[in-house]
Amino acid sequence: MSIRLRLTLWYSIILAVMMSTFSVALYFLLSFNLYSTAEEELKTQSNEIVKEIRYAEVETGKGTYYNIIPPRFNLFQSSNLYLQWISADGEVKQKSSNLVSYSLFWDQNTINKSKANIDYYEKGKVADATMLVYNNPFFINDTLVGIVQVGTRVDTIDSSLNSLKLSLLFIGLAMMIIATTFGLFLARKVLQPIDRVIDAANQIERGTDLDKRIEYYGPKDEIGQLTETFNNLLSRIQVMYNDMEEAYRKQRRFVSDASHELRTPLTTIRGNVDLLEKVWNQSSALGEYTSSPNRQLSLEAMRDISDEAQRMSRLVNDLLVLARADAGHELYKEAVEMSSLVEEVIRRAHFLPRHAEWVAGNLSALQGAYVMGSKDLLQQLLFIFIENGFKYTPDGYVKLDAVRTGRQIGLCIEDTGIGMDKEEVPHIFERFYRADESRGITLGTGLGLSIAKWILDQHGGSVEVRTTTGKGTTFMIWLPASFQVEVE
Ligand code: ADP
Repeated sequence: MSIRLRLTLWYSIILAVMMSTFSVALYFLLSFNLYSTAEEELKTQSNEIVKEIRYAEVETGKGTYYNIIPPRFNLFQSSNLYLQWISADGEVKQKSSNLVSYSLFWDQNTINKSKANIDYYEKGKVADATMLVYNNPFFINDTLVGIVQVGTRVDTIDSSLNSLKLSLLFIGLAMMIIATTFGLFLARKVLQPIDRVIDAANQIERGTDLDKRIEYYGPKDEIGQLTETFNNLLSRIQVMYNDMEEAYRKQRRFVSDASHELRTPLTTIRGNVDLLEKVWNQSSALGEYTSSPNRQLSLEAMRDISDEAQRMSRLVNDLLVLARADAGHELYKEAVEMSSLVEEVIRRAHFLPRHAEWVAGNLSALQGAYVMGSKDLLQQLLFIFIENGFKYTPDGYVKLDAVRTGRQIGLCIEDTGIGMDKEEVPHIFERFYRADESRGITLGTGLGLSIAKWILDQHGGSVEVRTTTGKGTTFMIWLPASFQVEVE
């Protein structure tokens, strides 16, 4: 759930709790006040009546009984007051004329409570009206002789309270809706700059534009501070990124320059060593120096120098290719006809140093297939895999096959060589990485597959590797291709 929604929800819940508390308190306060006023009036009136009650003691042979003369109720009666006198044995003796044919309610419980000298209020129905009745017991010498009941209609109080309840409910609901909508709008407005921060961060994450800053024209509150901190952070990242870019650029330039500078002396060394070897061989053919005991040793040392110079040349060339790749070297791309390119590679591969048999499989899938790319690099790509096949296959064969799926061609280079441990596979495309199996067995730079990976990336291709230690390796190269419709 978004902060915006959570904020609004919290705000609405707090508002709802406050409004309900206020409404309930208001309702009960008003109800208490209205009923207290009514009760007060009933009690006052009842006490007035009690004061006016006259009685006479009548002595009979059986005992004393009281002749009660209640006041005339119509004198006390008002439009909203109903009066009634009940004798101690529960008989209505007198009532005000506005009660007409009705009586105020009472039952045995009323008599019992009165006998216990409890005066109390009771609410009930008289015909259609709701009445509040005050029951006031009347004693003479501790003997209950009657009950004064004074009632008043409370319909108006009840209906006022009901309408108040309804109004509070509707007003509350309306206020909740307005407050929630307004709260949502407010939360959106307040959090809008955060959205801008997120947008800017997303844009920076997607692209490389570190120049971008968040625009904020509001006050320097929490959001203003956050925006400023974020912008400062971006500036720092930009400076660091530019420094790194610069250092990386210098490093690339250094590798590229060093490789370039090393090429010329290496070529000279190789040329001179070759020349020396030739001169030596000619001299030995003419029978010169044959008596020298160090002749054989010197010849071997020269061959070592020649081999190492060759290896260094390869290394320098590979480094140069990768340095150019790192510098973002743009390829000149054209539609390369794959069938003839692969045939040419197969022909030239026969001359590579090898112990394994070189087998060209079924290449019919390449008929009419074109790859957009560089002819030289595509050839180099295939040679890297084929040369590796020969290098790591002491006997058996290295085979090239071609397949086609959808809009891709697959070139499969399979060998029956030393294979690799499965855990090494993810690393063999890293620079200078050489799998354990090949170390010590063959000479290599560990750069061939890094170059192959770069060439594949440039052509939108991919590679799959299947390998078993001691049994061989298969590289499957996939390249996106277009196909010319073959005319029969
Ligand atoms: P290298 O110059 O060592 O051949 P590569 O980058 O061409 O460098 O290859 C990296 C490593 O991958 C090699 O050192 C070798 O361990 C492994 N490898 C590549 N091709 C094969 C293969 N056909 N059979 C076995 N191992 C291979």
